[in-house]
Formats: sequence, C-alpha cells, structure tokens
Amino acid sequence: MSAPQTVPCQYRTGKTLGSGTYAIVKEAVHIKTGEYFACKVINKKLMEGREHMVRNEIAVLKKVSRGNKNIVTLHDYFETSHNLYLVFDLCTGGELFDRICAKGYYYEPDASVLIHTIMSAVEYIHDSGIVHRDLKPENLLFRSRAEDADIMIADFGLSRIMDSEQLTMLTEVCGTPGYMAPEIFRKLGHSKPVDIWAMGVITYFLLGGYTPFDRDSPQEEADAICAGDYKFEPAEYWINVSETAKDFIRKCLTIDQAKRPTAKQALAHPWLADKRAHFVPDP
Ligand code: ADP
Ligand code: MG
Repeated sequence: MSAPQTVPCQYRTGKTLGSGTYAIVKEAVHIKTGEYFACKVINKKLMEGREHMVRNEIAVLKKVSRGNKNIVTLHDYFETSHNLYLVFDLCTGGELFDRICAKGYYYEPDASVLIHTIMSAVEYIHDSGIVHRDLKPENLLFRSRAEDADIMIADFGLSRIMDSEQLTMLTEVCGTPGYMAPEIFRKLGHSKPVDIWAMGVITYFLLGGYTPFDRDSPQEEADAICAGDYKFEPAEYWINVSETAKDFIRKCLTIDQAKRPTAKQALAHPWLADKRAHFVPDP
C-alpha cells in the first residue's frame, strides 16, 4: 500500500454504490490503468472528533485484509482537507441483504455453505485479535454477480483490535440494534462473542427471510434480545428447516457470552461441519 497522498487525482469517481452512517461509497476508476475500485468517501466534518474511527478502520484492514480471501481488500487511502478516501477492491455483486430480499429466503444447503465461508473469515479475524462488531447482511458483499460469487466481509468501521483474550474488554454501546448481542445492551463489557451472536441473527434471517428480534419499538427490541425472546415462527416459514439448523442458531444466540460457541466451535457444529447428514426437515 502506498503512503497517504494529499490529492486524489488518480481516480475518477462514478456512480454511488452504497452509503452508511458516515460514508458514501462510489465506484472509482483508476485513470492510468482503467481499473475499477470502490471508493469510500468520508466527510471529515461529519466525522469531527471521530476521525480516529477511520484511522482504526485503516489499521485493522492493514492487519487482516490480505490474509483471507473473504475480507475486502484495502488498496489505497488518501485525504484532502475535506475528505478521507479509502479505495477497496470493487464488489460488483451487491449486498447479501439485497440477495435475501430478492430470493425471499435461502435454501438450507446454500445457507450452510455461505455461513461456513463467513464463519471461517470470522475465525480468521478473531485469531488476528480483532472483533468486527457490525456483522450484518448490509456489510457482506458479493465479489461478482455470479450466483456462486465469493462473499466478502466489509465495513470494519466499528471493529476493534483486542489486546487480550478477555471477554469483557469493550463497553461502548454500538452496532446495529437488530444484530447486537445482549451484553452490549446490558453494558456488561463485550468482545468476540458479539460477532457469533450476529452470525446467529444472520443465519436466522437467511433461512426465515426475516430477523428474529423485530419489534415495534427500540426498547421492546432491546428487551427481546436481552431475554433471548425469539421463536421459529410462523411455523410455515420454518417447516422445511432442519432441527440441526435451528440448533446452530440457538447455540449462536446463547445469552451468556461465556457459553456461546467460539468461531472455531461454531465451525465444528454439524450444520456447518457435516456435509451430508443435515437438511432433513423436522418430522
Ligand atoms: P458504513 O461504515 O458507512 O456503513 P460501508 O463500508 O458499510 O460504510 O459501505 C456502505 C455501503 O457501500 C455497503 O453497505 C455497500 O453497499 C457499499 N460498499 C462498500 N464497500 C464496497 C465495495 N468494496 N464494493 C462495492 N460496494 C461497496
Ligand atoms: Mg456498513
């Protein structure tokens, strides 16, 4: 990666690919080579006082983005007086969120393969001493439009580098409510297990087509999460889903973070590890 530059004149930006809390992500072409990238443009004024979050995102990406093929690669970064620019490999296949919405829900064999891939990348991130903290289908991108395209973990804006294996290092309340673990709401201190909880919510969403803790108000949602109050209902949405898959979701959504499986243990669960014996719906 090259040193930060002051003038982003090497790229021409094009259409908007997506936007989040602090950033707009645009397609960008490298003028000299004609190569396409995704450029995350972060307005410094909007980020005022929180610029360290972007520096953190850069530090984390430098640490993990070239070590695993399912993590977006940071190519370049630079800043002007107004903006910070992060240049990523372009994922042309869109967000997992949009694919779930287009399909309605995923068939179990496809969901299992997808979750296995994402969980392996999460294991790599955790082994690198990092907790992502914002895993959700909007931050999981397909490298291409192909049906079997690689899935990529993006958006390390809320991630943290952990100094130790302690469970309760972080205390800020952050993330996207529907995917946040109970210990975040309860301000008990949190760490890597929050990513496993989010994987449980994502798996539920993939198989059911809706998220488990949707409620009428944010308070009711937080209460439902803290109580682990979700069901595999309405029954007609879950009729073709195996008990093995439901067990996998239950394990990931264990309220006590100390008892929740690690990424390594989740990968050893029969729903991910056993390629033949599952996908038999409940009798
Ligand atoms: P924020 O921190 O603001 O949520 P993200 O990094 O999640 O920013 O990017 C916002 C959106 O931009 C993503 O949800 C996705 O739709 C799009 N996006 C981000 N990175 C890429 C990429 N490398 N290729 C294609 N689209 C991207
Ligand atoms: Mg995002």
